[in-house]
Parts: sequence; structure tokens; C-alpha cells
Amino acid sequence: MPDGLVFSASFAIDGPVILVHGGAWDIPDGAVEDHRDGLKTALAAGRRSLASGHSAVDVAADVVASMESHGAFDAGRGAMLNQDGRAQLDAGIMDGSCLDYGAVIAVERLKNPIRVARRLMDAGNGQVRILAGEGAERFAVAEAFTLIDNVDLISERERDRFEALRDRIGDVHTSQSFLPGVADRRSGGGHDTVGCVVRDARGHVAAATSTGGTPFKPPGRVGDSPLPGSGFYADGEAAVSCTGWGEAIAAVVLAHDVVRRILDDEDLELAMTSRLQAMHDRIRNPDGDGARGGLIALSGSAVAWAYSTPRMARAIWAPGLGTVHLEL
Ligand code: ASP
Repeated sequence: MPDGLVFSASFAIDGPVILVHGGAWDIPDGAVEDHRDGLKTALAAGRRSLASGHSAVDVAADVVASMESHGAFDAGRGAMLNQDGRAQLDAGIMDGSCLDYGAVIAVERLKNPIRVARRLMDAGNGQVRILAGEGAERFAVAEAFTLIDNVDLISERERDRFEALRDRIGDVHTSQSFLPGVADRRSGGGHDTVGCVVRDARGHVAAATSTGGTPFKPPGRVGDSPLPGSGFYADGEAAVSCTGWGEAIAAVVLAHDVVRRILDDEDLELAMTSRLQAMHDRIRNPDGDGARGGLIALSGSAVAWAYSTPRMARAIWAPGLGTVHLEL
């Protein structure tokens, strides 16, 4: 792929719609079927949720919880492990109709972090929107969520990846050299953050994102995913969920930048591709490679995806359109 090239497409859809992603990177051929299954299962959960009359934000939580539980992705069960060999998870969600949001950061004992982030929107009473680590887990217990053991989040695939990385690179801080999609020199690859954007029958929109972060990250490292404006954002008719190099996405506040441009009537697809291109041009890793990533977005009348990595896992459902699994 030529340096910096962005792939994108948009669909004119003005009714209810669910658009999901399962990460943007060089997804190996052998992992494609599992990703497709995860996207399909998540869309089915979202359709059921929409059909029972849930609002966009509740549908978004159901969709992302499904992907957290699936195992194919770097979120929930199957998340990448940090340098301590533990899954440490981040998730955030936002309701475009009122700008309410909730996020949890660096949690280690929640099966579905997105559900706790969603609960924070209600139970936090607007006073508390983001909780990290043990504080988030204590809140979850107070809200009747069950804590699980960290090993229950760890898959064999990720245990093997962790052991290979530990043997190969010791305690190098890989987040600094991490670039989704380009030759992943030291980290060994794999960036399957999940997210969705939803428009419900009333025209309300929501965005949600959940991740285990980067491979072999130092404990406590936080990327873009749980930060409103960076990894997710929703306002009025516009919603965005991002994936990719978290430090770069946070630096350009990608989700908010794209939402603002949509609300300013910029073309949806152009807003997305130009921002990915700008991030790539502006932010480089120590080897001089431009930052890459992907995002999904919706405006009042369309949905779109764009990515600057070799592949992005993504799928759409809308009544009439049916389920569309895009080529991975
Ligand atoms: N953005 C995520 C992070 O930096 C990684 C990803 O999207 O795969 O934590």
C-alpha cells in the first residue's frame, strides 16, 4: 500500500443503522473468519436491541459487549496482555442527544467494561464520568456487577503472543513504536479494538469503543479508546468510533475533530479521510513512519468508514440494506 493512502466508502442511510468495527491493521488471513463471525454476532445483538426499542446508546453498549465477549478481538476476553501478563481494559460510550458519556480505564476484573461505562452515565449523575482501575471496579460492585478473575479474560492466543513478546523484546515500551498496519517490527502485531456507531428510530446517535490497548503495553498505559473526543465522540446527528495508534489519535483528538467537521456540513467521507491523512502526515514514530488508524462515522443521512491500514474489520446493518460484511 502506498504510504499514507486512505481507503474509504460511504452509504446513504437516513434511518436506523448500526456500523461496527473490529480494529484496523494487517489482519492475518487466518483471523479473518473469526473477525467476520464477531462482527456478525455483534450486529445480530444490535438488531435485537433496536427491535426491542432500546435507544442508540443502549444498542451501542449491547453491540460492543457482544464483541467484548466474542474472543476474536482485542477487547474483553481475548484482549492483548500488558507487560505484567494481565489484561487491562479501557472502554467509553457517548450519547449524541445529550453529550452524556461514561468511560472506564485500566480495569482488570470486568467481563464487559462497556456495560460499566454505560452504567456510569446514569449512576454517576453527571458528576462522575470516568473511573479508572480499582475505583471503577468498586463502582461496578456497588452497581451489582460481578468481578471476574483476570485469567478469565486471557485467551490462549494472547498468552502465546505475550510469551513470544516477552522472550523477544523484554521490557521495551512498545506503545511508542506501535503503528497499526505498518510492519510491526517489535510488537508482533494485532490491534483489534472494537467500536460502533448507532442511529436509532428517533434519530438519536451514539458511539462506543472498547479495547485491551496495545500489545505488551506497560501497565497503566492509556490510549485514545476511553477518552471522549479521541477514541469516540457523538454530538447531535454525528458519531465516530476510532481505532489505531492511540497516542497519535489522542494527539489529534480524532473523533471530535471529525464530528465537528460533520456538524459544520463537511462531506462525511472527506472529513474522515482528510483527518486520517493529516494525522499520518503530522505524527511519526521514531522510525519516521506516519501514524495510521481507522474510523467509522455517521452523519444525519449517511454512514462511512475510512482506514489507512492494510485491512479494517467492519460491517453495517440497516433495515432494507440487511447485514453487509465488508471485504476484510
Ligand atoms: N487505539 C487502541 C489503543 O491505542 C488500539 C487499537 O485501536 O487497536 O489503545
